Amino acid sequence: ILIRGDEMLKVEHIVKYYGDNKAVDDLSFTVKDGEIFGLLGANGAGKTTTFRIIMGLLEATSGKVTLDGKKIDYDVTDKIGFVTEERSLLGKMTVKEQILFYGTLKGMLEEDILKKLDYWLNYFQIPDYLNRKIKELSKGNQQKIQFISAVINEPKLLILDEPFTGLDPINVKLLKDAIYDLQKKGTSIIFSSHQMEHVEEFCEKLVILVQGHPVLEGYLKQIKKDYRKKNIVIQGKFDPKKIEKIKGVLSVTKEHDEYVVKISDESVVKDVFHSFSKSDEITKFVTLEPSLNEIFIEKVGAHYDE
Ligand code: ATP
Repeated sequence: ILIRGDEMLKVEHIVKYYGDNKAVDDLSFTVKDGEIFGLLGANGAGKTTTFRIIMGLLEATSGKVTLDGKKIDYDVTDKIGFVTEERSLLGKMTVKEQILFYGTLKGMLEEDILKKLDYWLNYFQIPDYLNRKIKELSKGNQQKIQFISAVINEPKLLILDEPFTGLDPINVKLLKDAIYDLQKKGTSIIFSSHQMEHVEEFCEKLVILVQGHPVLEGYLKQIKKDYRKKNIVIQGKFDPKKIEKIKGVLSVTKEHDEYVVKISDESVVKDVFHSFSKSDEITKFVTLEPSLNEIFIEKVGAHYDE
């Protein structure tokens, strides 16, 4: 029995060795219905390995993965759709043949597959691609077709490995909106990306891996809160050296015509504000949350330095 609100994807203490190389090191997280989860990490951190374990393509050395309480096996993989980095498309097939192939594998009726395909081709503004050979499509359009094959049977869990790479801004927007729609319908989504602005805009919950081990995990809002540091952006005529000396000011850097003052926590804002003298001319003074990019670089960078 599935109780409403039951966690749907549960990854518990997975470890994966390739020979002596530990690619995933005690990773745990959960993704609930309708949640978008970001799996982040530097190159080689273990993201693809984790995805392959979740998809049931690779066996973990230890630990377990369950979807709605069930171990991932042949039965369950039908409920998982994925877009992988390898962009595994069957080149010589036409779009129609390929999607029919995947849809039928997932137990759908031809009529339903074609109806859905028609919807998606229109959605991605490529309605006349139905009978085109996949290998003749541009990279971005191949990616759209791969996305369509992943969602054709409305999976419960959607895995997207770098889904935005290679797409132009218009198509990034189309794909994001499509993903939001699926989220609203209750699909759980896990995705990886090296572009922090996509992650920041997109996911509520995330984990950052360093050499397979989670170094930061949780809800984005909470992560930012716990990080405590903030940035003040100041524009105008003043003495930046004076600001550098204030307790709690970590750094002052000039970016274009603005100064960015990194502070240890919010309480420092007033000290910076009160440090200006009468002769200073301040035209802008804004306190900003740290960006995920900043947090990522600090957390992941610290481990590279070790
Ligand atoms: P990227 O961001 O570069 O795609 P990733 O986070 O997806 O990286 P993985 O591909 O999961 O990282 O690799 C994690 C580690 O496991 C790396 O050290 C890699 O060399 C190793 N690895 C991955 N696949 C294999 C394999 N088939 N055999 C042996 N080692 C592997």
